Amino acid sequence: MRDPLLDVSSLYVPMFFPFFAGNTDTEGSKPPLALYNTMGGVRERFAPLKSDFVRLYSCGPTVYDSVHIGNLRAYLLSDTIRRVLRYNGYKVKQVMNVTDIGHLSGDGDVGEDKMALAVKRAGKPMTLESLREVADVHIASFLADIDAMNIKRPHAMPRPSDCIPEQIALIETLMDKAYAYETSDGVYFDTARFPTYGRLGDIDIEGLKEGARIETHLEKRSGTDFALWKKGDEIGWDSPWGRGFPGWHIECSVMAMKHLGKQIDIHTGGEDLARVHHNNEIAQSEAATGKQFARFWLHNAFLNIDNTKISKSLGNTLRLQQLTDAGYPALAYRYWLLTAHYRSPVNFSWDALDGARTTLKRLHRFFFEDLASSDKGAINADYALRFHQAINDDLDTPRAIALLWELVKDEHIPRADKKATLLDFDKVLGIGLLRTDAEHSVPVTVSPIALKDLPEDVRLLVIARDEMRDQKEWKKADELRDEIASHGFTVEDHPEGVRVYRTTA
Ligand code: AMP
Ligand code: ZN
Repeated sequence: MRDPLLDVSSLYVPMFFPFFAGNTDTEGSKPPLALYNTMGGVRERFAPLKSDFVRLYSCGPTVYDSVHIGNLRAYLLSDTIRRVLRYNGYKVKQVMNVTDIGHLSGDGDVGEDKMALAVKRAGKPMTLESLREVADVHIASFLADIDAMNIKRPHAMPRPSDCIPEQIALIETLMDKAYAYETSDGVYFDTARFPTYGRLGDIDIEGLKEGARIETHLEKRSGTDFALWKKGDEIGWDSPWGRGFPGWHIECSVMAMKHLGKQIDIHTGGEDLARVHHNNEIAQSEAATGKQFARFWLHNAFLNIDNTKISKSLGNTLRLQQLTDAGYPALAYRYWLLTAHYRSPVNFSWDALDGARTTLKRLHRFFFEDLASSDKGAINADYALRFHQAINDDLDTPRAIALLWELVKDEHIPRADKKATLLDFDKVLGIGLLRTDAEHSVPVTVSPIALKDLPEDVRLLVIARDEMRDQKEWKKADELRDEIASHGFTVEDHPEGVRVYRTTA
């Protein structure tokens, strides 16, 4: 997807950049919400279709396996937009599908069904019940992952296997309107009948047609036509076109319309989905209803691991559980993701995660220990406005986090107000300040160890490091910090002096 704004430097445009110039209808000092819309490829001012209610649809997981940490970036985007919308005072209804049937391993209409493969892998008989059982296991693990990441559960998480009649009805509508045709192996959407097909993103339609032709059969009228219904498989449901199962794309149109109506405000997903899946969603929905399907399309860029694309065949897939098993709380991963803009590609490394854990730990200690006894304060209006400007600037979470640290260090803000303001920020960032369940959080109950209680060798190292710092011998001080760490202790420098903790996972 071509993205002229992907250059990170361009994300730091002051809030009132020309796009907003002349906007006079902002409510007091409330900054307008601007989102980068993949449809059209520009930032646009967001307002819901109907008063203050936002209909949000997010493409969800195919539950044939546990999700990997790259997938979680997509769900964090849907969570962030939802939180930002709430922060702006909108009511939000969020729907996310959970694909439990019919997602082929390729983008086109060939390849094996991922769910059927999972049933085989589980050694179960190929029945609809087995499909359901396999899906149930992975839905539970998906929910555990998003809970741990403090990603709010969508208001509805429909499954296509529960909506077969609705999917058949939509295909019938498309047949009646001559947007679909039947072949010996299924029912296909006729993309030539939909003149604006492929308008989402910077799509090379000719290339797409060419690519699709390679994996197509002679009965398809055009390479970009896609299956609405696939006939005859080992298992399936009865339909006017024989036994089979719905094509993958139709489910999202059906579920969005069933739970949100014919038109939705915002649709999210990973950038890989724009080209085929989302263009197909648009075509079949708009052909059926004659109305614009989604007004804003938000796509997150990909996460790579050690500069390599996540891929099962390369064996470099990482799951959240592996991070937590290695001692990295899910919230540290969330914090790290938020330090990058959702449209910037990111590269995961253990070192990066390690840094995020340390920083988040420092924040939690400051908040839960240093500010513990602070009174009820007031949200600082200046910081709140700047925070609001950052998140309303196409969800600029890196800027919001930089601001959070500016606030932490700002000595002019009373501690009670700092606390209230940080709590306000956490409504959007969700990095554990509002949470009371420390279980998934970074441990915060650890108290610093008094110098006299440290093992003698560590105590001497800490004193030596302090001396080096006094003499501004930073390199030597850093070496001593590493030596202290090798004994299982962490030192932190605070205005009132050094604090030493036992290193925890
Ligand atoms: P899938 O189960 O493959 O359909 O993916 C679920 C969601 O995760 C989709 O929104 C994908 O676009 C997104 N996704 C898949 N891989 C990555 C990745 N490496 N980085 C970010 N998002 C991803
Ligand atoms: Zn979808």
